[in-house]
Amino acid sequence: MTDGDIHEVMVLLAEASQEWVSPAVTIVSQREGNPFKVLVSCILSLRTQDRTTGPASERLFALAPDVEALAMLSAEMVEQAIFPVGFYRTKAAQLIEIARRLRDEYGGRVPDDVDDLLEFKGVGRKTANLVVTLGYGKPGICVDTHVHRICNRLGYVTTRSPDETERALRAKLPREYWIGINDLLVMFGQNHCTPLSPRCSTCLVSRFCPRTGVAKSR
Ligand code: SF4
Repeated sequence: MTDGDIHEVMVLLAEASQEWVSPAVTIVSQREGNPFKVLVSCILSLRTQDRTTGPASERLFALAPDVEALAMLSAEMVEQAIFPVGFYRTKAAQLIEIARRLRDEYGGRVPDDVDDLLEFKGVGRKTANLVVTLGYGKPGICVDTHVHRICNRLGYVTTRSPDETERALRAKLPREYWIGINDLLVMFGQNHCTPLSPRCSTCLVSRFCPRTGVAKSR
């Protein structure tokens, strides 16, 4: 696709997305509008399916609706609440440490800056960008595996890692799409442009797509 095609591609995906279920972290952000809960649910979502992330987030928020409450919990209580998310023991320890640092060093407020967020153990660029974009509504581009894969298949970027894709998108993606691109491409990647054997024969943006790197499709 050419750089100019991005507008039509985003419009088509936005229309199609009405049929798709939003990612678990997006649902949390829409319902709660709370950066702390976006941060927690994003950490829970790493290497975990959405159908597990949503209920685990709810169970933890019932025990710990804010930074102060989470900082007071024991590791066992957090582990029990979030099981069976991936790496639940490690995540429980990280969440408690994050909450205690936020309480003790940040007055209980989650930072709204990517670099500040990256100072916390367990917070990578994906999580930091989601807190900034979904938690605070500030400009940022969250690049996860779906965004990275699809932007390369479409030929919009030519990159080898999500971090590289984030840099490339920051340089060329029109700002109006920064916050929304993660949601759209995660849903598109889960439902249509899947990692293995994407559904190219029925793809609504196929006329723009050179299918870079796609060996097998449906
Ligand atoms: Fe993905 Fe295939 Fe559509 Fe390209 S044509 S965006 S590879 S599903």
